[in-house]
Order: sequence, then C-alpha cells, then structure tokens
Amino acid sequence: MALIVMKFGGTSVADIEKIENAADKVVKEVERGNKVTVVVSAMSGVTNQLVEYCSEISSLYDVREYDTVVASGEQVTAGLMAIALQKRGVTARSWLGWQIPIKTNTIHGKARIEEIETKELHKRLDAGEVVVVPGFQGVTKNKRITTLGRGGSDTSAVAMAAALKADRCDIYTDVKGVYTADPRIVPKARMIPKISYEEMLELASLGSKVLQTRSVEMGAKSGVPIQVLSTFEPYLGSDLKGTLVTKEENIVEQEIVSGIAHNKDEAKVTVVGVEDKPGIAASLFEPLAKAAINVDMIVQNISSRDGKTDMTFTVPRTDLERALKTLENLKTLKYEKLIVDPKVAKVSVVGIGMRSHAGVANKMFRTLADKGINIQVISTSEIKISVLIQEDYTELAVRSLHSAYGLEENKKIA
Ligand code: ADP
Ligand code: ASP
Ligand code: MG
Repeated sequence: MALIVMKFGGTSVADIEKIENAADKVVKEVERGNKVTVVVSAMSGVTNQLVEYCSEISSLYDVREYDTVVASGEQVTAGLMAIALQKRGVTARSWLGWQIPIKTNTIHGKARIEEIETKELHKRLDAGEVVVVPGFQGVTKNKRITTLGRGGSDTSAVAMAAALKADRCDIYTDVKGVYTADPRIVPKARMIPKISYEEMLELASLGSKVLQTRSVEMGAKSGVPIQVLSTFEPYLGSDLKGTLVTKEENIVEQEIVSGIAHNKDEAKVTVVGVEDKPGIAASLFEPLAKAAINVDMIVQNISSRDGKTDMTFTVPRTDLERALKTLENLKTLKYEKLIVDPKVAKVSVVGIGMRSHAGVANKMFRTLADKGINIQVISTSEIKISVLIQEDYTELAVRSLHSAYGLEENKKIA
C-alpha cells in the first residue's frame, strides 16, 4: 500500500465531465489499495478571469485582497471533487488551506509554504478517507489567505507529499510528461522518461511551465519522486508512465542537452546614461530588490562617452510597471532616460552534460546566427545557456535549437 498525492491541473478539471474523469482515476488508485490525497487546481481559465477582475478595478490592487479573490477558484474544484468521489462510494472530504492549515509566509501573491499540519489528515487517510485539498492556497499566521504564485498547485501537491511523507506525487496534466521542449511549439519534441531535479529546476525556472519551479525545489529537498503524466490517457500514476523527476544518480543514461525552454514573460529595461563608477549597480538594483522585483538577466555596456554607461536588465512583465515607477522615483541615481522593450523572449538550452562537454554554447550562437536571429543578452550557468531575443523569433529559435542538438533523436552521452 502506497500513500500517493494526485494533483490535477486546470485542464484536468476544466468542466464537470473532466472532474468526473479525474475522480474515476482517484477511485482506481483507491481500489489498488492506496491511500490518496488529491490536490486540485481551479478550472482552466478561472484564475485568469479572477486576476482580470482585480485589475479591472485597479492596476495597483492590494495583494492581500487579490489572494482572497484568486484563491477561490480552487475552493470550487475541491468541493466538486469531493462530491464526485462521494458519488462513487468513496469517503472523501475537502480541506481548505486554512482548515489544514497550510501555513505560509506573508509574501502575498507568491507566498512560500512554511509548515503543513498533517496529524488529522493522517488519521483520515488511515481510516480510508480520501483527502481533497485545493492547490495554490495557504494561510498566514495572522489568518490571512495567501496564494503561491501562478502554477502554484504543483507546489501545494509536492509540499503535501513531503509533509505526509508520501511515496509519490503524481502530477496529472494535459501533456504526457516533460518533453525536450514545449510540445505545443515543437511537435517533434520527445518525452523524457526520467529527468533529474536539477535539470527540471532549470527548465521550470526558464519557462517550462509544466511544473512550477518551487515544486521541483521542494521535490529535490524532500526527495519525493514526482511523476508527471497525462490525465487523458487510460493509465494511472502507479503504472509509472510519463516522466519521473528524480535524483541524478537514479538516471543511468545522461544527455548532453536535455531540453530547450522559452519564456515570454519578461521585459527588457535599459537605463541609459548612468555614471560609470563604483556603487551604481547597487543603487539601481537595491531599490528593485526592496520592491520585491526579481531582476533576471543583466548587462552593463562598456563606458562609451564622458564616463557614462548603460545598464540593461530584464524583469517579469507583470512587475514592469512597478519597476519603472521605482526607477522614476529614485532620488539617488541619475540617468538620461529609460528604454523599455516588453517584446522580448528568453530561450535557454539546459543539460547536465554541459559540465563535461564543450561546444554547446557555440552551437547555440551559430544556430541562431544562421537563422538571422539577433542575441540581445546572454547568461550562463553550469548547466544552462540563456539568450534574450526578439519575441517574434521565439518559435523559430526553439525549433531550430531543438533540431540542432538532435533532441528528437534521443542522443545519449557515450
Ligand atoms: P496544468 O494546468 O495541468 O498545471 P500547465 O498548463 O500549467 O498545466 O502545464 C502544462 C503545459 O506546459 C503543457 O500544456 C505545455 O504546453 C507546457 N510546457 C512547456 N514546456 C513543456 C515541456 N518541456 N514539457 C511539457 N510541457 C511543457
Ligand atoms: N490556478 C492557479 C493558476 O492558474 C494555480 C495552478 O493552477 O497551479 O495559476
Ligand atoms: Mg500548471
């Protein structure tokens, strides 16, 4: 008998028929003798609609109230899932974030889970009950509702699995697993049967939204195996199909490049004509950090004229307005002007094999050059290379890189 967390994403619970389909899968796992905790997302499109409602009233809404609004989508599906399970003769009960409680910090809109109380849930699971939990939501110690950032139900699921010491966390979604690139952009993308937490972490943080980054971090820390699989296939998580996210040592054959990720959620800002002297970067980026704006790629141009230089960096598009306001209000930094380009995309090549194989970066630059794609910013780490390009070229870049690295052919390191 295994303890399994089954997470169903937005498209997997998009309407009543799909919720019933998901409930059938839960029942089958129960019939196999497993203890099951179900984590559900909101019906697909609902969270976007709720976010829009907030923005319609005010673009600078209070994030505490935003959380109250957007957390509601998951409450609906949790209740409906419990009803669908009960209809099938299974004892099931929904537990909202505050009822468990799933305690988080107070960073509203992108809160982090700090602690989950599991005593009562274990009691219920031991008694044969299915526990149904809405993803995405938690509660602060001051009893305010929080949400975990977009895609946060993955994190709720892995956190529940870690807290309950589950044997596995099954992420049911609308694709068959984790692919070498987004299968919606690269039809020839190949499903990866096993991937290390480390590579998955890079892919997720670089834009492969199949798993929220924080969920992978949590998987790596707790050691909970994460199985990503399709809701719309007849098999179950216990059949171990799809992609297993696991420790590097469990993967026998390793690839040089395991995948290509892309992200269209960033915007580029250039601060033109700042003084080229010590402390400038600090006085530019400290206020942004204080405003909780994550700066990603950064380049400082060489000093060109009169000891002046330009700084270019990227921020999430959703934070652009706040970033610009922060910079415009800076009293401690003088600059000539700000140039903003929201139509950029980051394309990244990820692979653990890069540690031991040279030439990966070179191939990326050559491939993009051959397609006439201009690279605006480059950043690298031990196992990834990212470039910033014009947004219109994203699909072309991802497809060209995918075939340049032979990813459709299942190449392994010899
Ligand atoms: P859910 O609603 O189930 O959480 P998401 O939309 O958040 O689903 O994530 C699944 C989507 O992630 C897929 O439909 C796919 O388009 C996208 N995706 C991006 N990169 C990848 C990748 N490398 N492998 C699989 N899916 C990916
Ligand atoms: N419903 C939330 C979102 O759309 C959380 C999730 O689905 O993971 O971001
Ligand atoms: Mg998701």
